[in-house]
Amino acid sequence: MSKYIQAIRGMHDILPERIAIWHRLEDSARQVLSAYGYAEIRTPLVEVTELFKRSIGEVTDIVEKEMYSFEDRNGDSLSLRPEGTASCVRAAIEHGLLVQPRRLWYRGPMFRYERPQRGRYRQFHQIGVEAFGLTGPDIDLELILLTARLWRGLGLDGFRLEINSLGDAPERQIYRERLVAYLSRHADQLDADSQRRLASNPLRILDSKNPETQRIVADAPTLMDYLGEETRSHFEHICRNLDRAGVAYRINPRLVRGLDYYNRTVFEWITDDLGAQGTVCAGGRYDGLVEQLGGRSTPAVGFAMGLERLVELMALTGLHSEPGIDAYLVAVGESAQAAAPGIAERLRDGLPSLRLMSHCGGGSFKSQFKKADKSGARFALVLGDGELEREVIGVKDLREETEQRELRQEDLAAFLADHL
Ligand code: ATP
Ligand code: MG
Repeated sequence: MSKYIQAIRGMHDILPERIAIWHRLEDSARQVLSAYGYAEIRTPLVEVTELFKRSIGEVTDIVEKEMYSFEDRNGDSLSLRPEGTASCVRAAIEHGLLVQPRRLWYRGPMFRYERPQRGRYRQFHQIGVEAFGLTGPDIDLELILLTARLWRGLGLDGFRLEINSLGDAPERQIYRERLVAYLSRHADQLDADSQRRLASNPLRILDSKNPETQRIVADAPTLMDYLGEETRSHFEHICRNLDRAGVAYRINPRLVRGLDYYNRTVFEWITDDLGAQGTVCAGGRYDGLVEQLGGRSTPAVGFAMGLERLVELMALTGLHSEPGIDAYLVAVGESAQAAAPGIAERLRDGLPSLRLMSHCGGGSFKSQFKKADKSGARFALVLGDGELEREVIGVKDLREETEQRELRQEDLAAFLADHL
């Protein structure tokens, strides 16, 4: 056993030196979402296990083997949320939010017991978006355009968009039979998971990562050929308008998604810059889910993006360091040290945006000044007993070779406002 207690495998601390990127990503997403009229919703991290079984599906990887489920002290089975849509739908039904179209978004940690590797963790973060009450393809399109705008704003250009239509339930039913017939003829060449899914969830076989299975799947019938008039035109509307908007995409007839609740449109944004875990954002339409969870039948479409993967890409571009503080206040001498907190507070009153760090812990002028230098601040503010008596403060620009100057304390806020 190691001497120190460490974080759980697959769950990571986000350290201060990375936080500027997280802020940039979260702030941009929030800005874009609010610009499109989406409102944030926050739901608990823990829900009754039944919620995820009924929504995500019993025969999915997530529910079968990835959930952190446990018994509450009173014996109820609870789970850490593995994704956000189910909670969002539960909350929307519970609070009667679905009487009119609703555009919602959420963010936060999700939990899945997966094999940890680059881009795949046991606690990870998503921002997700759900639009309720809208049937037409225009809202599917809005979600895709919104994400494209976010990528542009973040300077992430190399993403591929893949889309597909899963049809509606009756179309999928017919397709499912054809697919099972085809795959059954090759059952002995499928991996063990896929053989099992042949009976329970054959569409998921299309998504298998096993190369041998993928070879069989390559010649399988495709769902696209089984779409009816309405679903086809829904899909074509999206494609046509993506063309119009100049958003490049690829139709991938084998794109299914790991959750059971999707119908019609599904899409993924994929990058080649992260190795195997290349999907940064994924979503689709789920018209049946609200009713399945006990609400009134309500069409819905949404997506979720994986923040760790996006942060890693942003880190690769290397443009995100944010200066930590603007000024560091050094105080030497008994009276100066006693007066420093008051002066710092007045300065904060005068210039609320100022990022001011006050030296704590005393020490010589030299050692305090060293800390000021190391702090990354632009200015050192120097207060000695002499300065205090004259009601001035020394100001030293730590980035330019200029002489230290003296300013009257009351002029300091204006000076800093001008120079930062
Ligand atoms: P994958 O095919 O990568 O397993 P998924 O289909 O399970 O993804 P979703 O449930 O649709 O993923 O989640 C949406 C996004 O959340 C993914 O595209 C990915 O960016 C991110 N994500 C999902 N699982 C993880 C994980 N274990 N660690 C980090 N990010 C994840
Ligand atoms: Mg997964």
